[in-house]
Amino acid sequence: MKLYEQYPVSITNSLSGKKELFQPLNPPFVGLYSCGPTVYNEVHLGNLRTFTAFDVVYRYLTYLEYKVRYVRNITDAGHLTNDAGQGVDRIEESAKLEQLEPMEIVQKYTESFHEVCRIFNILPPSIEPTATGHIVEQIEMVKQILSNGFAYEKNGSVYFDVRKFMEKHTYGELSGRNIDELLEGTRELDRQDEKKNSVDFAIWKGVEPNHIQRWPSPWGDGIPGWHLECSAMGTKYLGKQFDIHGGGMDLKFPHHECEIAQSIGAFGQTPVRYWMHTNMLTVNGEKMSKSKGNSFLPRELFSGSHPMLDKAYSPMAVRFFMLQSHYSSTLDFSNEALSAAEKGYKKLVNALSAAKELNHPGGSGTNHELMTDIRRLVDECHQTMSDDFNTAKTLAALFEMSARINDFKSGNVSLDQINIESFSQLKTTYMDFMENVLGLKEETESSSHVLDGVVHLLIEMRKKARTDRNYVLSDKIRDDLKALGVQLKDGKDGTIEYEIL
Ligand code: AMP
Ligand code: ZN
Repeated sequence: MKLYEQYPVSITNSLSGKKELFQPLNPPFVGLYSCGPTVYNEVHLGNLRTFTAFDVVYRYLTYLEYKVRYVRNITDAGHLTNDAGQGVDRIEESAKLEQLEPMEIVQKYTESFHEVCRIFNILPPSIEPTATGHIVEQIEMVKQILSNGFAYEKNGSVYFDVRKFMEKHTYGELSGRNIDELLEGTRELDRQDEKKNSVDFAIWKGVEPNHIQRWPSPWGDGIPGWHLECSAMGTKYLGKQFDIHGGGMDLKFPHHECEIAQSIGAFGQTPVRYWMHTNMLTVNGEKMSKSKGNSFLPRELFSGSHPMLDKAYSPMAVRFFMLQSHYSSTLDFSNEALSAAEKGYKKLVNALSAAKELNHPGGSGTNHELMTDIRRLVDECHQTMSDDFNTAKTLAALFEMSARINDFKSGNVSLDQINIESFSQLKTTYMDFMENVLGLKEETESSSHVLDGVVHLLIEMRKKARTDRNYVLSDKIRDDLKALGVQLKDGKDGTIEYEIL
């Protein structure tokens, strides 16, 4: 019997709004897709909440012995500031601002995203396709939608015709949007607009001659529509219909709604069986987002350099903080919550090192009550994760387990009270759930706090040298740090930040 049969998974499907038994199309295989970052700037902590949530979904399904193909894309073209396919191209805009080529921007922020994932212990997906690597597939899909009559071409762009689509199919089911209201927006259409209805969205967008990112197509040079990328790449690697598609709640509309319409428009079938949406990381109740100016970056957390932070927090403390709430609830950032998470993480991770050192002394074990309790906790770890990936409840079970482990370690309770089977269940479940399922690994102090303290000390010394006009010393500090792989950067408000190269 496979673990997934022993502990069947249920998922709250955003399509039905209900918790449903998860039945993959083709077990033991599972196709999982989650929307990846648009690589035009650094990911913030809010983005990371979503990536961490799907990392845990991937990890747990794999732990349950499913053979998971996890696809998480990189959006490296086609994402305009307005999600309906209008506005400024985010990557071109960053390229202008930073005076770099668009593909330099893509390279820079893809690397920085990977680095952040590595630090947060977010596993690489099975496939990480890029939009620019799948232009051919996207053009084919646009052609298909056009030939099925659900799109129209205008001045080198191709738009999805929502009204036409709705003559045969439903639109708005996932997000629960009122379509009449959406179509009502038609009246507000700017006369200049190429679209027939404001709800129509670009699946191919013609570009101006000065637009650097561009690909030839039957409709002229252009870029793919953002929503279309995910449809084309999901279909290519997971099939016309696959098991799970995820993303943040803010992507339900229009992004995911459009994905559904495009797939039906091209292939006549709905693409996804279970839609999963993570809730937002908030700051004082407001969604964390770059545009609101309330976001901070992972490295600002580790260095404590953001004004909203009382101190630096380690990556695993932050990961623990994220896992402490269910993915479907909002999670509000605060220094108090992060400090509490730091303590909680330390408690669990200390028990992890203790568990690794414990060995069973032999003997058949006589404390049946204790063995039953261990069995209950082992079961609870699995049940809570199988219940819609309830990491908050799993952590509660792990806390109880850590108390048992500490009792054994301190000698409060002798290990020969339990038999070898109970012992190995406790030890392996604890280790598996901490390290493989939740991705909470042991951290060395030197990797974060000590290094950070030393760099800040040198930054202070350099500031002092500059005030004293001792430029030889201040330059030496900067250059020697750089040679060691630490780049100092002038931050806002005269503060100095640093980056590990
Ligand atoms: P983007 O690069 O903007 O497409 O975002 C990448 C992912 O992060 C998407 O799945 C978003 O839904 C998600 N996201 C953005 N802001 C937040 C937030 N404050 N909390 C949780 N997830 C977020
Ligand atoms: Zn997507």
